[in-house]
Amino acid sequence: MTTAYDAIIIGTGQAGPSLAARLANAGKKVAVIERKFFGGTCVNNGCIPTKTMVASAYAAHMARRSADYGVQVGGLVTVDMKQVKARKDRVSSQSRTGLEGWLKGTKNITVYAGQARFESPHEISLGKERLTAMQIFINVGGRAVVPRMPGIDQVPYLTNSSMMNVDFLPRHLVIVGGSYVGLEFGQMFRRFGSEVTIIEMSSRLISREDEDVSVTVREILEAEGIRVRLNAKCIAASKRGDDIAVSVDCTAGAPEITGSHLLLAVGRRPNTDDLGLDKAGVEADQRGYIVVDDQLRTSVPGIWALGDCNGRGAFTHTSYNDYEIVAANLLDGDSRRVSDRIQAYALYVDPPLGRAGWTEAQVLNSGRRALVGKRPMTRVARAVEKGETQGFMKIVVDEDSKEILGAAIFGTGGDEVIHCILDVMYAKVPYTTLQRAMHIHPTVSELVPTILGELKPLAEAKVGTGSAA
Ligand SMILES: Cc1cc2nc3c(=O)[nH]c(=O)nc-3n(C[C@H](O)[C@H](O)[C@H](O)COP(=O)(O)OP(=O)(O)OC[C@H]3O[C@@H](n4cnc5c(N)ncnc54)[C@H](O)[C@@H]3O)c2cc1C
Repeated sequence: MTTAYDAIIIGTGQAGPSLAARLANAGKKVAVIERKFFGGTCVNNGCIPTKTMVASAYAAHMARRSADYGVQVGGLVTVDMKQVKARKDRVSSQSRTGLEGWLKGTKNITVYAGQARFESPHEISLGKERLTAMQIFINVGGRAVVPRMPGIDQVPYLTNSSMMNVDFLPRHLVIVGGSYVGLEFGQMFRRFGSEVTIIEMSSRLISREDEDVSVTVREILEAEGIRVRLNAKCIAASKRGDDIAVSVDCTAGAPEITGSHLLLAVGRRPNTDDLGLDKAGVEADQRGYIVVDDQLRTSVPGIWALGDCNGRGAFTHTSYNDYEIVAANLLDGDSRRVSDRIQAYALYVDPPLGRAGWTEAQVLNSGRRALVGKRPMTRVARAVEKGETQGFMKIVVDEDSKEILGAAIFGTGGDEVIHCILDVMYAKVPYTTLQRAMHIHPTVSELVPTILGELKPLAEAKVGTGSAA
């Protein structure tokens, strides 16, 4: 049976549902196809559940630190993992069912369950059914990579998806991958009470960030008792009775780490291998990311790709921004582009890292004349009052245009404070506008103007050290 639509949306990640609603409200007949859980990664095994669990971990951490604040909690602080999971499931499922109900209740939208595959540029198969449309929007997201490390097929392992079913405390969680996902799970499970070891192939954690960020995050994690093994060049896994041994071949330390559970957090790959892209002639790169232009059009007219599957972003907000760009172009006569957006994201360890624009190293490598300002959180009154003084704030400015090039706010409230800098970057006004703004006391943000009043030439400033002073 073939049904004709004006538009078909494959996947209900962070772009598809909102686009479906906009198109439907514009009078188009829209089909939405989802093969698993409504809301995709963010809602079911990404941002929402992990940040809900980070909140539980923070509560445990603060309960253990209660005496620092003169508060007596009494007794050993323990975590009920079944309740942590139940809380996480509640928050996640509220979002999932809310989305499903909204889509199914929206006029002009028909929701299909199943695996969508292209049969031709304008035809999608869904089991025995066929759907056709002149406009097709791909929002299929991605999944965890399982690295081809020796022995991986011989041992049980967890990914960010199966971690969502963990309702017990792993005795010793060994995490392969010292980037965003691995660090969040690592700190969280340490705070729940597990022993945690993080194994990273490169010479520092989150190596895409500046070295001072890598050094500081390592200090924070190690201070909580997490073991970090860097330069692990030949990672392999094997069974050791009921345990799992991971050989690391590091330049120093024990050659093997034995833990009760193994989490693989080494990156993600797009869900494009089972989509029949070849039948539609849609071009993908060597890693499977769909090639798109600045307005998210694929190589085939009438087909767009949004979200993680186009390789132009790896966040909920980049996927949602993709929706805004496509909707603006198709429905509003507003030619928004991917290149208009400024890189921004957060790492949700505690304290969080808020990032916008370029790193200090990227600015240095660009050869621009630049200024940098930096302040440790120990010199931020609000952080001192809260007893959360780990981290630093850093802002890099173009000396000639006076525009802000990038910032890292790594400290309490960093995921929120970064937005006052990001918005000034979007406004393309000189940094002096922000320097002269009167901010509220006592906040972390009140020190942003102060930092901008203390800028030094970047080349002369101490670069790439762990010292925030
Ligand atoms: C552990 C973890 C934590 C994260 N934390 C954050 C965070 O704090 N902040 C942030 O911004 N980002 C975070 N992310 C990233 C964020 O979750 C993703 O960038 C975001 O969900 C991307 O959404 P998307 O729209 O590309 O697609 P997805 O959300 O991946 O959804 C794609 C949907 O398409 C469906 N699908 C796939 N193929 C087909 C098919 N052939 N037919 C039918 N349906 C199909 C899938 O079932 C899925 O529902 C995190 C990711 C992980 C893994």
